[in-house]
Amino acid sequence: MSVNLKEKREIQNFVELLAFSTVSSFYPTAVLKYANATSLESVFEYLLRLVEEGELKLKWELKCSNEELICARKIIKVDNKEDIIDNEFNCDICGNTFLASYYNLFPTFEITPEYRELVRGDFKKKQDLRLDKGKFRGKIREVAQVVAKDGISGNIPYGDLPPQIQVNIDKVLQQIVMSGDGFLNNEGRTIHIGGNVNGNPNLNNGDDVVQVNQVKSDESDKLFAELLKEISEKSNESNKAQLEYFAEKLKEAYEKNDTEEGSKMVKFIQGSLGNIGSLASIASFFGMTL
Ligand SMILES: [Zn+2]
Repeated sequence: MSVNLKEKREIQNFVELLAFSTVSSFYPTAVLKYANATSLESVFEYLLRLVEEGELKLKWELKCSNEELICARKIIKVDNKEDIIDNEFNCDICGNTFLASYYNLFPTFEITPEYRELVRGDFKKKQDLRLDKGKFRGKIREVAQVVAKDGISGNIPYGDLPPQIQVNIDKVLQQIVMSGDGFLNNEGRTIHIGGNVNGNPNLNNGDDVVQVNQVKSDESDKLFAELLKEISEKSNESNKAQLEYFAEKLKEAYEKNDTEEGSKMVKFIQGSLGNIGSLASIASFFGMTL
């Protein structure tokens, strides 16, 4: 099974538009949604082909797997999953210590800098075609929003993917290693984390502005409920109503994927209450590290 012509065109549009955005990575499910495609397997197959062709790069995102505290903190991103599998990690947000496994490792795709440059260069050449810039920006925003929304519910760890997709991923990565184009050797191929990344929160924070949200919506509801609880416990009579208002605005910003407004509200609440637990998790939805 492979993607049809229309899906292929849409996937190409997705990647090209994304190359103009500040989004650094996406999950395959975002592509599935954008292209209105039906088969995750086919979408994966096509994305893996783009990896082979050098347009995309596959990376592995390790997320905290503390189900009790509903934490989904991004801990680290690596090129090779086998480098960290079974290694022990610590989450700086919830304090969870856990082992990297196929169930907390998520395949994500990044546009390679080379391809990004090519796409942007092509665009400059086409500028005399009198493109509607406003409309074009709107399209870029649309793609970025699909990626951001997808992070709420869409991401699937390697271990939960259909076996055929797992096989395809491993096959393509194997080919790339064997073809020796330096793909995996350029950066991080021999990453050795001493089993613990606690106290080094910068590891999981790239230079991306629009970060992908990581938490299922019912889980985010719980986090916002937790935030309100913490506000009522830790605020005083004079600032309680104000903080509750900020929390409400924060939730709205989260629902609308409004990073700017969200970051502002996080800072307001942080200014009054410091780094309370639920706020740190919510902040990470907006790509912030408290
Ligand atoms: Zn955690």
